[in-house]
Amino acid sequence: MAQESKSRVAVIGGGPAGCFAAFQLQNIYDVTVIEPKSPLLTLLPTGGGRCNLAHAEYDFRELAKNYPRGEKFLYSVFSKFSTADTLEFFEKIGVETYTQEDMRIFPVSNSAKDVREKFLQALSGVRFLKESALRVDKTDNKIKVVTDRDSYYFDKVLIAVGGHSGFEIAKMLGHNIIEPKPALVGLRTKEDFSSVSGVSLCDVLFTHKGVSGPAVYKISSLRVREAFPYKLTFDFVGEVDLQSLLNENPHKSIKNLLSDFVPKSFAEFALKRCGVNPDEKCHLIDGKTRDRILMNLQNFEITALGAVKDGEVVTAGGVDLKEINPKTMESKIVSGVYFCGEVLDIDGFCGGFNLQNCWSTAFVAAQGIMQS
Ligand SMILES: Cc1cc2nc3c(=O)[nH]c(=O)nc-3n(C[C@H](O)[C@H](O)[C@H](O)COP(=O)(O)OP(=O)(O)OC[C@H]3O[C@@H](n4cnc5c(N)ncnc54)[C@H](O)[C@@H]3O)c2cc1C
Repeated sequence: MAQESKSRVAVIGGGPAGCFAAFQLQNIYDVTVIEPKSPLLTLLPTGGGRCNLAHAEYDFRELAKNYPRGEKFLYSVFSKFSTADTLEFFEKIGVETYTQEDMRIFPVSNSAKDVREKFLQALSGVRFLKESALRVDKTDNKIKVVTDRDSYYFDKVLIAVGGHSGFEIAKMLGHNIIEPKPALVGLRTKEDFSSVSGVSLCDVLFTHKGVSGPAVYKISSLRVREAFPYKLTFDFVGEVDLQSLLNENPHKSIKNLLSDFVPKSFAEFALKRCGVNPDEKCHLIDGKTRDRILMNLQNFEITALGAVKDGEVVTAGGVDLKEINPKTMESKIVSGVYFCGEVLDIDGFCGGFNLQNCWSTAFVAAQGIMQS
């Protein structure tokens, strides 16, 4: 008796999301990952080469709060697959993990290369097709994928092309694309910070082009839809009784006094910025000048002019979540077509949240395919 052939599933995009879904599906379906480059290449630069693969938040509602776009949608997704499940998967494929003080989770090897190799070994049941998908068409009972070389027919198609290209495929299927914008980026500023380039305080890193660092990445994400230029203010010293300090240190220069709170080069920069001689002795600082100094440090104003892609760089925007069923990741517009990963209008802060989105949405998509 002829053996019944397995249903055919195409996964378009061999990044973390596509490969994780392929892993889940490989023993049940005939799975083809269509990817023009080597699979999982995008994993290599993650976490500065160390791969921050998850965040140690084990309450799924709390976890979802770290996504400026997608929070509500992810409740249902994370209730099915969350941080603990991610760690279980990595343990299963031989990647031991540890949690840093800031709750970011890394492989013990501290090597994204190692994670990629172990992950690739776990994909032995997957066929890779080194081609680029150009379009997806629904036919009577199959789904046709047209690539740069040929056309293929599948029973189900999962689109996991990431946030940097490939929105056209979704658009051609009739999906609305929320305008993609880079988030978790540095900011180019009107002010010239080159003299304090390299100085870091309160999670803000000054650069030749402007500002960067964790606080700025977060702001760039929260304000991603705001038009440039926009103003940012930082409090670099908090509550401080400057008058008492001036009284107690009459012969100290104001620059040296402030360097107890901020790096000396920054103190010098900030003082010059508000028109105060950095070498002025403390007893010569009058009340008005004191207030000006404090005002400047507690409400340090920066004008952002544009994005500098120097961070984790994720895409805010993508396939409109209103058109996706969060219980299955299936398109509400074209049945049999599923989405997962960064191609969706979901993005999180720095700290392992973006990869967690990939693992979780890929898992739910794979389950959705299995249940259909
Ligand atoms: C420098 C950097 C560091 C990062 N570090 C972290 C981190 O430490 N932790 C974290 O959580 N997140 C991190 N991120 C974010 C994280 O890497 C992404 O969110 C994640 O890679 C998205 O996975 P994805 O599979 O959805 O898309 P991608 O990783 O973008 O993969 C999509 C794949 O689809 C392929 N593709 C595109 N178009 C087509 C097509 N038409 N046909 C076929 N294939 C196609 C691409 O070649 C690619 O391989 C980092 C991002 C960057 C840029």
